[in-house]
Amino acid sequence: MSADEESVFDVYRDRVDRPLYRLFTEYGLDEWPWLVVGMVGNVVARVSSLLPAVVLGAAIDSALDGDEAYELPLVPASLLPTNAPDIEQFWFSVGLIVASFLVTAVLTWVYGVSANNFAHRVMHAVRTDSYTKMQDLDMWFFDDKQTGEVMSVLNNDATNLERFLDDALQNSVRIGVMLLGIGVVLFLENAQLAFVTLVAVPVMVAFTYWFMKTVEPRYVAQREAVADLNTRLENAVGGMELVKTTGTETYETERVEDTSYDYFRKTLAMLRLNYVYRPGMELLAGVSFGVTFVVGGLWLITGAAPGPLSGELTAGAFVTFILLSQRFVTPLAEVSNIVSQYENAKASCERVFGLQDIPRRVTDEPDAVELDDVDGRVEYDGVSFRYAESTDAAAGVEGDAETVIRDVNFEVEPGNTLALVGPTGAGKSTLLKLLLRLYDVSDGAVRVDGHDVRDVTARSLRRSIGYVSQDTYLFDGSVAENVRYGRFDASDEAVHDAARAAEAHEFITNLPDGYDTQIGERGVKLSGGQRQRLSIARTVLQDPEILVLDEATSSVDTETEMLIQRSLDTLAADRTTFIIAHRLSTVRDADGIIVLEDGEVVERGTHDDLLAEDGLYAKLWGVQAGEIESLPEEFVERARARQAETVVSGNDD
Ligand code: ADP
Repeated sequence: MSADEESVFDVYRDRVDRPLYRLFTEYGLDEWPWLVVGMVGNVVARVSSLLPAVVLGAAIDSALDGDEAYELPLVPASLLPTNAPDIEQFWFSVGLIVASFLVTAVLTWVYGVSANNFAHRVMHAVRTDSYTKMQDLDMWFFDDKQTGEVMSVLNNDATNLERFLDDALQNSVRIGVMLLGIGVVLFLENAQLAFVTLVAVPVMVAFTYWFMKTVEPRYVAQREAVADLNTRLENAVGGMELVKTTGTETYETERVEDTSYDYFRKTLAMLRLNYVYRPGMELLAGVSFGVTFVVGGLWLITGAAPGPLSGELTAGAFVTFILLSQRFVTPLAEVSNIVSQYENAKASCERVFGLQDIPRRVTDEPDAVELDDVDGRVEYDGVSFRYAESTDAAAGVEGDAETVIRDVNFEVEPGNTLALVGPTGAGKSTLLKLLLRLYDVSDGAVRVDGHDVRDVTARSLRRSIGYVSQDTYLFDGSVAENVRYGRFDASDEAVHDAARAAEAHEFITNLPDGYDTQIGERGVKLSGGQRQRLSIARTVLQDPEILVLDEATSSVDTETEMLIQRSLDTLAADRTTFIIAHRLSTVRDADGIIVLEDGEVVERGTHDDLLAEDGLYAKLWGVQAGEIESLPEEFVERARARQAETVVSGNDD
């Protein structure tokens, strides 16, 4: 895949339609009680937080200062001490104010708990679901080495969504309630003065809109700068050995400095707008407050409505106005945060669903059967295969990819060993990946005990095949856990026996904590030979009927190699075994040998047959056994041509 081509991940991300809507319908609905309780709690808590200012106004006009009837907007007079003595009205007000503080406190707690539960429950579901779906993706997806991106989806994007569901969602409810609530209360108290107070709101909204428009590209630039900085640092730290050995520390320091400075500048460019926005909003609120104060104040002092206004204003209503007009600013100023969280969440959500939407090609047929009681007869019947470009594969179209396996036919009887020999890139690994059904054949069929591998469940197929590869992966955990991986119920006894068979028991018992020694990234580092023997032990314990050995070319010393060879011989003894052989000495006893070149079987037979044939195998054998000095010129030429091709397709990656 070339750099300017989109990865399959990008393709499916771009196709996601209304991501946040999907988030709510596919995941949010399952947790709706938390959402509803959170929303209701939030709304009621906000409304009740507005109450003290209104009650204070009513108390001033009826009990504290004036002698008017006690009334509250929207509340029927029959519920209020309308014409009761001042002291009763006073205590009634105190009670209401205390109650509203209590209600606000309790409901803020309720809404906090519910909103958090909603956000985190949804994200837990999204994360585990995405992981499960990702795990089911076909092997070609992982060939493209998109693991970095996948990690970032499961980590960063999930966190972005969490933040959105938690903060942004509830804050936008709060803003709505506050603006609407304050507006309604003020209009009910005194519509004319409300008009004066709220005249600044459209200006605030316009200012906020301008801010969002201007800040958005700067946010984007800043996010990109963060990504660049991370890449730079990762590169520099990862390549530390090269940096030190080439003495390029100053060069690297400068590069890091440059990227960091770029990030610094872009962050400030973004923050600079914030410096303007917040004070700007304060100022506008100040203007609104000032105008209200002047107009309301004159109205009260002169007792007559100023200018075009009419009617009357009470001191209590004036106090309510002054208190509430202060409370516009904070919620409005939060709009910018909400918008940025919304943009982030949308992008993250697209990536999450993009990952989930990538189609699987290798899937179990609806009527797939379990493969059990395997004898181990394996048959390749006219098998051809080409790796599709991942994007083609995802789109389900046949690309123009090169055929890497061409019309391969053979049969292996249960318990026999077949060795695959041939130059790098001949297709040996690919051929066996078809047996494990990591990919589906393009033509022909691979059969196990007469079952086409596409007709049985992938899991039962793979459980009957043991795979020992050159690069052995070990999980963080103890030695015993790693050997037991896949056979979790194996007894300690069985684990030890498997380790003995793999010639691993001795070195394990010499480790600081024996079988309980922690290995992997955060534990003891093991040598290549030791790792390989652990993986052999794991396979011994798994006891598969069919075995695939991708023989090590890695640098183990002769002694270790001998131990590994012994353990492999034990392992292979009574199973159908495929060996991808690099050292021909290991295959001379195989029941059959197949020589592959450019995806085609060019020679087949036993060791002796092939020597007699005097072809590629005989020549390779001669070189490895030291009988002839080098390959004849014609083979060297072919090897050169192949290597040249490999470089071209390698660049394409
Ligand atoms: P061998 O195991 O004999 O060294 P492989 O089976 O690894 O050969 O490779 C056979 C051919 O398939 C090579 O040309 C290689 O470049 C190509 N190939 C291997 N893996 C992939 C992949 N994941 N995607 C595309 N092409 C691949």
